[in-house]
Amino acid sequence: MRVSALRVGRSRNVPLTSAVYGSASDDSIDVHMFMFVIEAAGTRIVVDTGTLSPDYVRRHHPYDFARATEESPENVLRESGIDPDDVDFVVNTHLHWDHCSNNALFRNAQILVNRKELEYAVHPLPVHERAYEKLPGLQAPWMSAWDRIEAISGEQKICPGVTVVPLPGHTPGSQGVLVETGTGRHLLAGDAIGVYENWNPDWRKSIAPTIHTNLFECYETFEFVAGLDCEVIPSHDHRILDSPLFRRPTTLVSQER
Ligand SMILES: [Zn+2]
Repeated sequence: MRVSALRVGRSRNVPLTSAVYGSASDDSIDVHMFMFVIEAAGTRIVVDTGTLSPDYVRRHHPYDFARATEESPENVLRESGIDPDDVDFVVNTHLHWDHCSNNALFRNAQILVNRKELEYAVHPLPVHERAYEKLPGLQAPWMSAWDRIEAISGEQKICPGVTVVPLPGHTPGSQGVLVETGTGRHLLAGDAIGVYENWNPDWRKSIAPTIHTNLFECYETFEFVAGLDCEVIPSHDHRILDSPLFRRPTTLVSQER
């Protein structure tokens, strides 16, 4: 099995308080956008598909979003030897704009989304409408390939060593992908754990994501993750590139230059 973390841009100078609930820190962070590719036993799986162009993002979101030319989804996939037409499954950890905007790129893939997430994306609380791009005159990005979406509930094994697991709290239908490789068990955690500052293996000391629909579920998810006995891979933290999970040649594509 090979797992790759392909960076497709970053939002610069985001207050840490936007990621870590209740934080009083004045620090800012870069919020990195990753597309993960799992190649396992003849099956190709993409976990999250990133954002549209920097111009589009800056028009609709309050972020200083940047993407180097080589970080476009098409370029990082080509550099990794992945033909989007050969991808069998896309897993969206949830349907926030920065996790599902390139679903249509994978024309032959079945798209696995938690059923509760689909329901909420259609009718979110007003405070969450922008995160789902439920905005006047826009088509929400997940709808670009809605005809290939399969609504799933609970855990689902995709192939040997790759299992989708529910991680609710950040959103009602957040989910992660547990991979079991020669380097052990690793969890692609989505925004349930967006940056390392959210996570503590002593799960009671973990700190929920600032954006959440259910704080109690956030902590039930932390307890569940602690019980998985795995390495946690946050969705937006560039320090994941140091994980033994990712093969070097591909991660180098995504390194700072
Ligand atoms: Zn999110």
